[in-house]
Amino acid sequence: MAIRPPNGARPTENDRMPQPRSAAGRFVGLSAPALAIAYVVLTAGPVLLASFNGGPQGATVFPLLARTAGVAALAMFLMQFVTSGRFETISGRIGLDRTMGFHRLAAVGALGMLGLHIVFFLVRAGESGVAAMTRRLLGYLLRADLFTGVIATLLAVLLILTGKYLRGRLLPYQGWRLGHGAMAVALVLLGLHHAFTNARFMADPLGASALLVIALVALASLLVVYVLRPVHAFRSGFTVASARALSPSIAELVLTTNTPERFSFAAGQFAWLTIGRRHTVTDNPFSIASAPSDLPQLRFLIRNAGDMSGSASNIAPGTRVGVDGPHGSFTLREAGDGPVLLLAGGIGIAPVLSLVRTLAATGDPRPVRLIAGARSAADHVVRTEIEDLMAGHDFRAIFLTDMDDEAGCEKGTCDAGHLARIVDGLDPAAVTAFICGPPAMMETAVGLLVEAGVPPGRIVMERFDFDAGDDAVCRMVRRRFISVMALVYGATFAVALTAAL
Ligand SMILES: Cc1cc2nc3c(=O)[nH]c(=O)nc-3n(C[C@H](O)[C@H](O)[C@H](O)COP(=O)(O)OP(=O)(O)OC[C@H]3O[C@@H](n4cnc5c(N)ncnc54)[C@H](O)[C@@H]3O)c2cc1C
Repeated sequence: MAIRPPNGARPTENDRMPQPRSAAGRFVGLSAPALAIAYVVLTAGPVLLASFNGGPQGATVFPLLARTAGVAALAMFLMQFVTSGRFETISGRIGLDRTMGFHRLAAVGALGMLGLHIVFFLVRAGESGVAAMTRRLLGYLLRADLFTGVIATLLAVLLILTGKYLRGRLLPYQGWRLGHGAMAVALVLLGLHHAFTNARFMADPLGASALLVIALVALASLLVVYVLRPVHAFRSGFTVASARALSPSIAELVLTTNTPERFSFAAGQFAWLTIGRRHTVTDNPFSIASAPSDLPQLRFLIRNAGDMSGSASNIAPGTRVGVDGPHGSFTLREAGDGPVLLLAGGIGIAPVLSLVRTLAATGDPRPVRLIAGARSAADHVVRTEIEDLMAGHDFRAIFLTDMDDEAGCEKGTCDAGHLARIVDGLDPAAVTAFICGPPAMMETAVGLLVEAGVPPGRIVMERFDFDAGDDAVCRMVRRRFISVMALVYGATFAVALTAAL
C-alpha cells in the first residue's frame, strides 16, 4: 500500500478540529431547524401564498381542503428529489441516515396528503355514506380529464411500496434505483399535468408560481446529480494506483491524482465512485479510509457485496475513476474535546481507519477507544496498522470475532460488558461515539451507549445501506419531526380555510 505513513505526514489545515467548514472551505450543510423551516416553507408555501389571494378557490369546505391537500402533496413529492441524500447542503450536518429517514417519512407524509386530497373530494356535506363515496370514486376513476391524476396516485403507491419492500431484494440494486427514479419523475410530471389542467387552485398566480418554482428546484436537483456531478467527478483526475485483496472478502483500492488541489475532504467522509465510465447512474458510495494528509492518494476498503464490489481487487491500475464527493458527516468536526470512542462492525472499519489516521497524523491528545468486530481474525485487515498508528497514544482497543480461538481477539458481539471495559476511567458524558457497521449492530450499540450515559447528541453514525436508522436516537428525532409537521400542516389547512370562507 502506497499511502504515506502517518509518522512522516505533516498535519494539514484539513486535519485540525473543530472545522466549521469542510476541507476546501466548502459549506458543510444547514442545521436541522433551518432544514425543517425550508421544507415547511416550500411545501406549505404554495397553499399559503394562494390563501393571500383568496384561497385555493373551493366553493365549500371539503373541496377546498381537498385542493389544499393536493397541492401540498405535489409539493412534498417534488421535494423528494432534493432530499434523496445526494446533497451536502441537506445531509452535511444532519447526517445521511437522518436525511434518508426524513426522505422515507416525507414520502409516507406525501402519500397521506394525497389520500386526504382524494377523501376530501369524496366527502359531501349531507351525502357522505360509504355507498355515495364509492359511487363518486368510481366516477372520478373513469373521468378522462382526471386520468393523469389517477395514474400519478397509483405510481405514488407503487413507488412507496417498492421503495420499502423491494429495495435491494428481488431486483438488482441498480435496476431498482433506476426504476425508483423513473417512477418518481413520471409521478411528478403526471401530478403537475393534473394540477395545471384541472385544479382551479392553479388559477391563482401566486400559488401556481410557487409550485412551479418547486418543480424547477426538483428539476435542477436531477440535473445536478445525473448530469453535472458525473462530469465533475472526473475533473479531479483520479486513476487506480493499486487494487488488491486483503482477505477473501475485503479488497483495498488506492486511487491517485496529479491534481490533488481539486479534491479535499474531512476524515470519515465518503465519495460516490464511478469506475472507468462517464455519465453513469450506477455509481457506488464508499467511505474514504485514508486521511486528508494522505492526498494525493485516496484509499478505500471494499467488502464483496455484489458485482462492482466483488471485482474491486481486479481493477487494472491506470483505470479512470470518477470521485463525487466528499459527502457525509461522520467526521471529527462532530466531536467535542473529550474522548473519542470508535465502534466498527465489519467493513465499518473503513471510515474509522480514516479517523484514526487523522488523529495520529495530527498528534491529537484526546483519548481514543476502539471496539472493532469482524467475522474472523483474518477480516481484521487493518488491525496491525491501527495498533502501530496509535502506539504512544492514549489508546485501548477490543477486537471481537464470531469465531473461537482467534489469536488476540475476543469471541462475540459488542455488549454492555465490552463497553463498560473500554470506557472505564472516562467520563461517558464527555465521550463522542462514532459507530459504523451493519444496521443491527448499530442499533444495539446506540442503545448500549445511551444506557452507559453517552449523550444521544454525541453519537455519530454512518450507515452503509443508504437508509434510515431505526435506533433510539433516530426514533426520537422522527417523533419530534412528526409532531412539528402535524402542527404546521394543521395550521396551513386552517389558514387556507379561513382565507377562503
Ligand atoms: C455512505 C456509504 C458508505 C459506504 N462505504 C463503504 C465502504 O467503505 N466499504 C464497503 O465495502 N462498502 C461501503 N458501502 C456499501 C457499498 O456502497 C455497497 O456495498 C456497494 O455499493 C455494493 O455495490 P455492488 O454493485 O457490488 O453490489 P450490488 O450487487 O449492486 O448490491 C449489493 C447490495 O449493496 C447495496 N448497494 C448497492 N449499490 C448501492 C448504492 N448505490 N448505494 C447504497 N447501497 C448500495 C445494496 O444493499 C445492495 O443490496 C457504503 C455505503 C454507503 C451508503
